[in-house]
Amino acid sequence: MSVIDSLRRPEHTGENRCLPCTAVNAAFVAIVGFALGVLWLPAGFVVLAIGALLVYLRGYVVPGTPSFAPRLVAAVGLSGVFEHDDGEPRQSDTLDANVEPEVMLSTLLDAGVLVEEPDGLFLADDAREEWESTMATLRKASDDELAEAVATALPFDAEVAPEFDGISIDGPSMSVWISRPQAIADVATLYTVVERSVDPMVALSATEPLRMFTEVCPSCGGVVEETTVRNCCGGTAGIYDSPEHEVLGCAECGAVVYEFGDE
Ligand SMILES: [Zn+2]
Repeated sequence: MSVIDSLRRPEHTGENRCLPCTAVNAAFVAIVGFALGVLWLPAGFVVLAIGALLVYLRGYVVPGTPSFAPRLVAAVGLSGVFEHDDGEPRQSDTLDANVEPEVMLSTLLDAGVLVEEPDGLFLADDAREEWESTMATLRKASDDELAEAVATALPFDAEVAPEFDGISIDGPSMSVWISRPQAIADVATLYTVVERSVDPMVALSATEPLRMFTEVCPSCGGVVEETTVRNCCGGTAGIYDSPEHEVLGCAECGAVVYEFGDE
């Protein structure tokens, strides 16, 4: 491994590069470089050259940039300049089923999928075990195999195909696109819930709320935590109106697993 390779941070460069982070750091390097250049020209050049190289290789040089640069850029009204214009990443749709939330909730409680404790609702241990092991199996599936699993799990006939790194579903009452992590979680929900004798349409309506209980990333098996969509470089940055939109996201791959509603 060369010195250059050891400096590289692929998680913050290439297609993961966060444009606000890069711009803020390039400006920082330029200001410091010019300020030093006024005092002693060679020092200014050295700082400019090294700073530019580091921003190129590592995405940023100022520690903690990902936590403040997107907000800083938004605060000065420049976020529009960095809009991703290639149409991706896309925002995942929800599999909706026209079932009253109260009906869904009481059905899941009766079936033992959810349990009510004094401090709130929880996913039952055996349901979680089955849910997570189904996700682990689906995680290894190819895009085509995952599309087939979605088609099999859906309680209606639909055209299901891999599209834009996710799954498109064209059915009698819905035409939606869901991300790969969501497809994995939702198929696992359908299997786990229907297995407990719940009506398939009620199970379908449970796919979104159950993602709130995710602890393991459907996509990579990493740790899922509460975060905001702009907390990390690249990934989902740029597709949401509100930079502070709260989500359950994967700390490792950046997958968005559940989006909290705006309150
Ligand atoms: Zn992940």
